[in-house]
Amino acid sequence: MDFRLNEDQSALQAAARRYARERLLPLAAETERTGAPPARELVQEYGQMGFLGINVAARYGGLGLGNLEALLVIEEFAKCSAALAFPVFESCVGPVRAIERFANETLRQQVVPRVCSGELVVAVSMSEAQAGSALTDLTTRAEQRDGVLVLNGSKRWCSGGGHADGYVVYCRLSDEPGAKGIGAVYVDRHAKGLSFGAPEELMGFRGVPSSDLYFDNCALPLENLIVPAGGFRRLMEAFDLERCGNATMGLAQASGALEDVAQYIQERRQFGKPLADFQAVQLRLAEMHMKVEAARLLIWRAAVNAQHGLPDVLESSTAKCFANEIAREVCGHAVQLMGGYGYSRQFPMERRLRDAWGWGIAGGAIDIQKVNIAGAMLGRRFDQRR
Ligand SMILES: Cc1cc2nc3c(=O)[nH]c(=O)nc-3n(C[C@H](O)[C@H](O)[C@H](O)COP(=O)(O)OP(=O)(O)OC[C@H]3O[C@@H](n4cnc5c(N)ncnc54)[C@H](O)[C@@H]3O)c2cc1C
Repeated sequence: MDFRLNEDQSALQAAARRYARERLLPLAAETERTGAPPARELVQEYGQMGFLGINVAARYGGLGLGNLEALLVIEEFAKCSAALAFPVFESCVGPVRAIERFANETLRQQVVPRVCSGELVVAVSMSEAQAGSALTDLTTRAEQRDGVLVLNGSKRWCSGGGHADGYVVYCRLSDEPGAKGIGAVYVDRHAKGLSFGAPEELMGFRGVPSSDLYFDNCALPLENLIVPAGGFRRLMEAFDLERCGNATMGLAQASGALEDVAQYIQERRQFGKPLADFQAVQLRLAEMHMKVEAARLLIWRAAVNAQHGLPDVLESSTAKCFANEIAREVCGHAVQLMGGYGYSRQFPMERRLRDAWGWGIAGGAIDIQKVNIAGAMLGRRFDQRR
């Protein structure tokens, strides 16, 4: 077992870090101020630089590298801004991977290469007003009629809602109750019958537009079926990779906060000496470091154990849950260590704390992950309804 990155991985990480610091850091504050997502030209630049679809197969326009390589880039980008990292996240671990894995060849060719080049952004729409943690209560439904799929219902909290070019929509595709009736379809943003709610005002995630989606007899070609009824388990398996991406977005808030604060405490002086000279500050710094390192190792283990496939549910849930928790803690400590400057909107630290919080709700709340972890540990499924 070797915990070091190889030469190519180190070079990719360094290139991503350099690009993020030079190109993205100057845009981060403006993204936060306006709430506007990264410009299309910028996303296409990511594609030209080889930062999209890193772990997507080369035949679909990706780089064909492993999951670890993708996560290395996501962390470096997200240290500067989660919003500016979001297209990388979507292209490497997001819903497009379900299309690459499960859809028919026509849809794959239509969508995946264009996501890898930055031409398309694809979002996932699972949650509904009455189906959050209880996702299998979802009621949005697609029926086959006259050679098309007709979609009706509404979705909530879609990151990318109103902005993305296409949506992977979880829906009922048969009369079977619960998970058995659930599959997924692809909906183009211009599909007739699709409309969007008002942009959400979230605590963080500025620069990641979010809205409800409404489907009113929205007609889709049959080849837009990604997974038929009965494929919910497969969708969740693909989601194990998204969990590693979610964990990395959270980790990046913590590791970025730690880098910034380590510098700050050496510069800021109180009582005639740098903050770093106080032992209480040293202990806090060490605790932050331990948590960041442990989270990264859990994420990397889940990724490396499935470099070209889908991570294990126990490893990915453990990584997500731990990274979600420590991201909140570490960013909270960093805000505290920067005193008034940590709490000021003029500096990025408070943004990190707000963004860190969201990753512990998005992609499955922390406590739900813990139920998944216990279930996987014991080889059981804990039915929350009984
Ligand atoms: C920033 C952000 C981005 C998101 N992006 C997307 C997206 O792109 N696409 C999408 O489809 N959805 C998205 N979501 C929605 C997200 O998946 C849901 O918010 C999440 O699954 C929780 O559902 P809920 O909000 O309905 O909370 P609820 O299900 O009502 O749960 C609220 C709380 O109750 C507790 N709880 C609920 N059930 C249990 C249980 N069985 N055991 C123990 N505790 C429990 C948990 O503490 C939980 O946090 C996003 C959410 C956020 C905050």
